[in-house]
Amino acid sequence: MPSRNDTPESPFAALRDLKPALPYSNSAISYWHRTTRAFAHLRANETSPLPVSTKYTIIGSGLSGSLTAFELIKSGIPAEQILILEAREAVSGSSGRNAGHVRPDPCSEFSGYAIVHGSDKALEIVKHEMVVLDLVQEFVKTHNIDCEFRPKQTFDVCLTREIAESEMRNVEQYVSAGGSLDHIRYHEGNDAKERTGVHDALSAWEWPAATIHPVKLAQWLLSSSIDKGCKLFTHCPVIQITQNEDETWNMHTNRGMVSTNKVIHCTNAYAGSLLPQLSAMLLTPIKVQMHSLIPDQAFSGGNMLQASMALRYEEHRYYALTQMEKDGTIIFGVAKPSGFTFDDTSYTDELVIEGLEKFEESHDRPSHYSLSVLHTIG
Ligand SMILES: Cc1cc2nc3c(=O)[nH]c(=O)nc-3n(C[C@H](O)[C@H](O)[C@H](O)COP(=O)(O)OP(=O)(O)OC[C@H]3O[C@@H](n4cnc5c(N)ncnc54)[C@H](O)[C@@H]3O)c2cc1C
Repeated sequence: MPSRNDTPESPFAALRDLKPALPYSNSAISYWHRTTRAFAHLRANETSPLPVSTKYTIIGSGLSGSLTAFELIKSGIPAEQILILEAREAVSGSSGRNAGHVRPDPCSEFSGYAIVHGSDKALEIVKHEMVVLDLVQEFVKTHNIDCEFRPKQTFDVCLTREIAESEMRNVEQYVSAGGSLDHIRYHEGNDAKERTGVHDALSAWEWPAATIHPVKLAQWLLSSSIDKGCKLFTHCPVIQITQNEDETWNMHTNRGMVSTNKVIHCTNAYAGSLLPQLSAMLLTPIKVQMHSLIPDQAFSGGNMLQASMALRYEEHRYYALTQMEKDGTIIFGVAKPSGFTFDDTSYTDELVIEGLEKFEESHDRPSHYSLSVLHTIG
């Protein structure tokens, strides 16, 4: 995790000047969005009059908002008392723009967590990530959710000496804090190259993870709550919240006002626009660019990637790689603090070129593919 100091040389210095913003209304359509356009509630209640009041209001319809509604109903709260307000179409934020990984990460993240939270909490976070993998698997199975959940191995592939040493130190720190290596395997030299298929790999760490279609999961959660009586209003950004003397809240939207007893903020990178105390220094809108590639025979059929991976070059620079089993689409992400912005309407050519170069460089398989880009922040 990058250190969030704001010295001029820190990549996070620019955050000081970043003002909170609402979601852009003309956000780009990602691969996950493109493959789920038939969702019946995509633009739910986009022109209907708002209710005057409701007991619970959830702001945001991503995985957090949709799961919160689901869990509130499960806990016994009548679904009719729950309103979800979404600024754009359903699941238009980071939940619809990510890498599709369910991936605990003990090997590269532990020391970053420890700097911020201390070793004990860092260990709890990593353990929690592993529990989440099991819980998602169980949840999907129990409810028979069609969201392309596939357990598979994942690799952290170290491509420079610097990052290989840094990951080794990270894992040593994780182990000395009491972390278990039971589920983690280490590969070096030719073993790393053969296991990962990445010909410049110096070393690699391997552990269990999964891939998933995140929008299908969120849409399932929304449908489940809406079927029970919960209301979703899309294209309804909350622009201000004020509190009344009786401690209820007024939600001001560009389509009128709703009063509510409880507000649950599930707004992710945009939280600071309604909760100024959550400035961009705390909840940072990092621009990361994902690409979806439709491969030719080099990565199709029997040649598909069996594992997912992060190709690591530097502390803050890696490339995420997964392949969806259902249609063979490759999801390839360029992750580095390349800019802080709330703008998810367009993509950067420079990152497309960099991403494609790295993808070709990493796997020694001449290939052709058609490309589309899903620009994202979160
Ligand atoms: C490039 C990238 C790759 C990632 N890859 C992974 C991965 O592989 N695996 C993983 O587990 N995580 C990944 N993440 C993180 C993950 O996507 C997020 O943690 C998760 O989706 C957050 O869900 P959320 O519901 O909190 O936020 P979001 O999905 O961002 O939802 C917030 C919603 O709130 C709405 N909203 C905001 N403000 C308002 C307002 N004022 N009024 C009304 N609506 C509002 C937005 O429009 C949005 O729909 C990735 C993130 C990024 C950016």
